[in-house]
Amino acid sequence: MTAAAITRPRVGVLAVQGAVSEHEAALADVGARTTRVRLPDDLDGLDGLVIPGGESTTLGLVAGPSGLLDALRCRLDDGLPVFGTCAGLIMLADRIEGGGAQALIGGMDIAVRRNAFGRQVASFEADVHVPVLGDPPMRGIFIRAPWIEMVGPSVEVLADHAGHIVAARDGSRIVCAFHPELTGDRRLHRLFVEGLRGGGAPVAEDQKGDIRVGA
Ligand code: GLN
Repeated sequence: MTAAAITRPRVGVLAVQGAVSEHEAALADVGARTTRVRLPDDLDGLDGLVIPGGESTTLGLVAGPSGLLDALRCRLDDGLPVFGTCAGLIMLADRIEGGGAQALIGGMDIAVRRNAFGRQVASFEADVHVPVLGDPPMRGIFIRAPWIEMVGPSVEVLADHAGHIVAARDGSRIVCAFHPELTGDRRLHRLFVEGLRGGGAPVAEDQKGDIRVGA
C-alpha cells in the first residue's frame, strides 16, 4: 500500500441500492476517495468498504447472481475493513433471529433482529450516545431498523438505545443500526476511515475533505 493510499484511503460503496451518494459525501468529507461497487471486479484495490442501508433481502437477491456476495465474503475473510449501516449491518451478521432464510455476507459474530423496533416506531430519531466518540450524542435516524441481540466475545458494543445494541465493532468492522450518512455528523465515518489510515492522527474538523493524494 502506498503512502498516498494510506493518507487518502480508497473506499468502495456497495451501490446496489440505498443511500449511496450520501455515504460518498460523508466519506469525502473525512478525506477518503470513493468508488462504487456493483460487480466483483469493483472490489479490486479497495482499502475499505461501506454497505449502505436499503433492504437486506433485496441486496442479497441482487448481489447474489453476479457473484458479488461470494466475492465480498472472500475479501472480508482476507481482512477488508467494512462499515455497514442498517441493512448493511444485517448483511454482515452471522445470524438473523426470528426471520426466514436470506442471503447474508456474514463475518461478524453478532445475531440481529430485522425491523426490530416494531410497527409503532418503524422510523424515528433519537440521540444515541456513542462513548468512543465522546459528546455530544449522535442524532440517530432509525428507518425500519434492526437491533443486535447478541454479540460474540470479539465484538465491542459501541452504542445502545432503549436497552438494545445499535452499534458495534469487531476490529476493523463497524456496524450501526441507524443512518449516520443522513446527518452532517461524520464521526462514525471518520472513525472508520481513521482505521484505514492505520491509526494515524484524526483529521481535524477544518481539514475535512482537504487531504491531497500523496500529501
Ligand atoms: N428493514 C430493512 C431490512 O431488514 C433495513 C432498513 C434500512 O436499511 N433502513 O433490510
